[in-house]
Amino acid sequence: MVQGYCVKCKVKGREMKNPQIKQTARGGYMAQGNCSVCGTKMSAMLSKDNAEKAIKQGAKKAF
Ligand SMILES: [Zn+2]
Repeated sequence: MVQGYCVKCKVKGREMKNPQIKQTARGGYMAQGNCSVCGTKMSAMLSKDNAEKAIKQGAKKAF
């Protein structure tokens, strides 16, 4: 499960729906998806370990 901050719900650790794992220009990883409660777009920075873990758990690899 990928978690992030939802700016609309103002909740940290919100579960991300349909997460896509992307790589940033600087070689970091981030997840983009939608808030599982309100559907607002959200994103979160991930460590390499967490990015790989998320992909194993079914997040879409988008890089
Ligand atoms: Zn939300």
